[in-house]
Amino acid sequence: MENNIKNTKIICTIGPASDDLHIMQNMYKAGMDAVRINTAHGDFKSYSSILKKVRKAGDITTMIDIKGPELRIRCEQRYEFPRRTDIIIGDASHAITFNYNIISNLKKGDIILIEDGKYRLKIISKKNNYVIAHSEEHCIIEPNKNVHLPGKKIKLPSLTKKDIKAVKFCIDEKIDYIALSFCRSKHDIINLRNRLGESGIKIIAKIENSEGIENIIEIIDEADGIMVARGDLGVVLSLEKVPLVQKMIIRECNEKGKLVIVATQMLESMINNPIPTRAEISDVANAILDGADCIMLSAETAVGKYPVKAIEYMTKAALNIEHAVPERDPVKNKNVSVSEALSHCVEDLCDKIDFTKVVCLTHEGHSAIRVSRFRINKPIIAVTSTKQLQRQLNLYYGIHATITKSNFEDPSTTELVKELYDNHILEKDDTIILTAGLRTLNQTISNTNTLLIRNVKEVLKYTRKYGTRRRRRL
Ligand code: PGA
Ligand code: MN
Repeated sequence: MENNIKNTKIICTIGPASDDLHIMQNMYKAGMDAVRINTAHGDFKSYSSILKKVRKAGDITTMIDIKGPELRIRCEQRYEFPRRTDIIIGDASHAITFNYNIISNLKKGDIILIEDGKYRLKIISKKNNYVIAHSEEHCIIEPNKNVHLPGKKIKLPSLTKKDIKAVKFCIDEKIDYIALSFCRSKHDIINLRNRLGESGIKIIAKIENSEGIENIIEIIDEADGIMVARGDLGVVLSLEKVPLVQKMIIRECNEKGKLVIVATQMLESMINNPIPTRAEISDVANAILDGADCIMLSAETAVGKYPVKAIEYMTKAALNIEHAVPERDPVKNKNVSVSEALSHCVEDLCDKIDFTKVVCLTHEGHSAIRVSRFRINKPIIAVTSTKQLQRQLNLYYGIHATITKSNFEDPSTTELVKELYDNHILEKDDTIILTAGLRTLNQTISNTNTLLIRNVKEVLKYTRKYGTRRRRRL
């Protein structure tokens, strides 16, 4: 394991600028940990072809972004309107319409924001199956652009037809994460989870409308992770509200051990320029200081001119700020579980003994995630049983996951250390804290119940002399 490996994980949206094996290989080398495929664009054939390349390029986590209850413009062509025009938007019988028939929900005085709020129309009159909306400024309406109706709650189905197809695709392709756009409440997550069955796919709820913010606590409790989707948030909230919402969501997620991603416009200027602005690098560093597990690139890697360079800048920014990320103490309650308490012990030992890595033998990943929350700035090796869980855990701050041949029901810690050493994950001069769920004295299998401190060199000496399983463990 290299020494200067970053703790923060980078998610890159794939698009025409990066849909190429050679470029993906370079993105992986530059520090990309996960790809995001945005199903707002492309078809399933193109997603399959991207995934083939991703899997060739490296051990990369996969995330498919489904669009959920998102409003978009439907029209056949691009329309350009001069200032002070009245524009007709109607049901499917009209040239300009929406992807859902929502005309009956609109009324005089409502605001329609198009293309991330770039164009603002005000409804001046409402007819049976259309509205007349006035634009004060010059306005361009193009197919598929997003639409926001600030302050309006419109009943839309949780998943579109394409989303339902995409979910099936994710299961068939053994995807690691699904990102659910415009998540409004825990019910949207439960509805999606019911479709996922035993697939093991984890759900990231994207927070990008006012209902999502209102229900943020129940959404965090229900989802596996959260994306602070600043693009759409910046449209529904006023821009200046986004920074505090970002901090609030990250804090809640850190406490509950939920994955948290900060997304959108992190290095926006790099769509066209080979270097980012100071403000952008500060934004990346501040998201990491706030406690983000992952930072995300969207247009920068999907359609930008410098996808690899953008990742390089993020990696450099992360490596330079991580030593300053404050340690935190999310375990505030008194009567916690043994595994919760043991994660706290790991943090406690940081300034008491000299150790180099934490190794968590973890069946479902929870014990490694618990340690990650403390931001101890030491690599956490999560040793787990499936490739999918390995890739999922790899997105948490400081976690480097691997899979083992060890038997989780009756693990030998010496065997495990030897295996990690043989796989170049541990070095001779490592001293590790190892947490595991070893069988209890009456032989029942347990959650994390053990914390051991081991020097790798000594374990190796011991195994050379006695083999890996000679001594009973406890
Ligand atoms: P999108 O979501 O890129 O799918 O729009 C992210 C955001 O809105 O910030
Ligand atoms: Mn969005």
